[in-house]
Amino acid sequence: MHIHKRILVTGGAGFLGSWLCERLLERECMVICLDNYFTGTRMNIEHLMDNKNFEIMRHDVTFPLFVEVDEIYNLACPASPIHYQHDPVQTTKTSVHGAINMLGLAKRTRAKIMQASTSEVYGNPAIHPQEESYWGNVNPIGPRSCYDEGKRCAETLFFDYRRQHNLRIKVARIFNTYGPRMHPNDGRVVSNFIVQALRGEPITLYGDGSQTRSFCYVEDLIEGFLRLMDSPDDFTGPVNLGNPGEFTIRELAEKVVAMTNSSSEIIFKPLPKDDPERRRPDITLAKERLGWEPTIKLEDGLVKTIEYFERLIREFGNTCKG
Ligand code: NAD
Ligand code: UDP
Ligand code: UDP
Repeated sequence: MHIHKRILVTGGAGFLGSWLCERLLERECMVICLDNYFTGTRMNIEHLMDNKNFEIMRHDVTFPLFVEVDEIYNLACPASPIHYQHDPVQTTKTSVHGAINMLGLAKRTRAKIMQASTSEVYGNPAIHPQEESYWGNVNPIGPRSCYDEGKRCAETLFFDYRRQHNLRIKVARIFNTYGPRMHPNDGRVVSNFIVQALRGEPITLYGDGSQTRSFCYVEDLIEGFLRLMDSPDDFTGPVNLGNPGEFTIRELAEKVVAMTNSSSEIIFKPLPKDDPERRRPDITLAKERLGWEPTIKLEDGLVKTIEYFERLIREFGNTCKG
């Protein structure tokens, strides 16, 4: 008999989680998709619901969970500044208590466990591009700290569970990722600009738009997750996963306006506090250890993302509620 791997995806109804569940089902894994629907939606996973290997569980990772699994991808955590600053105490609890519970589960079941960490652990980076050995420049008491420090503490817990309990851990430091099923109202730059451009509303550029980011298309990123999980046990990371192509936010705004044939004007708004000036992953480690690098160019990924938001606006109207 063919034995299916049993895989738990926390935050499975979110943007990245839904793509991951889809890929795992294609590999004929049994997938438990766990979510409390804080930012995720059932709509993201509706197309998977008929699959007999797919199971949905409403649960909050800050509470213990007892299931039997072989692998855990721990993605549960609001990811955009608007969402993670909405209830900052809950954000830190989700990262820290969530990590403790999922690590406890991995310890009991001896499952392999991957943490969705973030480039935010580098804070406003003093070195550029960022490599994994850089310890970061993070404000511990600012408005972004609940997210940044929560994720840093989760990394600490992962490495201590490995040292103390010999767990098989994997830590991915994810850089800005975009694509279909991003939340239309979460304030992240790619979704904001596309939705504004499609509605003919002003494009809101924060600061002077000279800050930079590197944007990875979601399917490239998910391939990185799978390769990391499948890598040998002695490779724990942390490993940067992101696209090293670096763009100013102004360049992104101009690209989106041009690609949507939009009549929107670009307007300037104040730069949020602690907004990092630049960010680009050094992906040497991922290339060497995982044979991974992104393959989808920003323009090509934007085409697919624009198509998605066009459809969303057509189906749900200008409220764009998903
Ligand atoms: P998302 O908000 O779409 O997904 C997060 C999911 O977690 C949502 O479905 C949400 O409902 C769920 N969730 C939140 N708190 C929970 C809790 N306490 N219990 C159970 N479920 C909970 O965001 P995303 O972009 O898909 O991000 C997924 C993961 O990747 C997050 O951990 C995020 O920090 C990390 N990440 C994402 C990016 C990016 O650019 N998208 C970059 C760096 C890191
Ligand atoms: N835990 C869980 N599921 C399990 C095993 C543990 O949710 O299958 C939780 C448990 O409630 C505990 C946490 O994970 O709070 C950490 O577990 P660990 O065994 O490391 O710690 P201990 O139970 O000794 O405090
Ligand atoms: N940004 C912007 N206009 C927007 C939304 C974001 O200029 O409508 C900027 C934001 O200030 C930041 C960059 O775009 O410099 C990326 O923001 P996002 O929230 O997507 O990600 P993060 O700051 O977490 O990298």
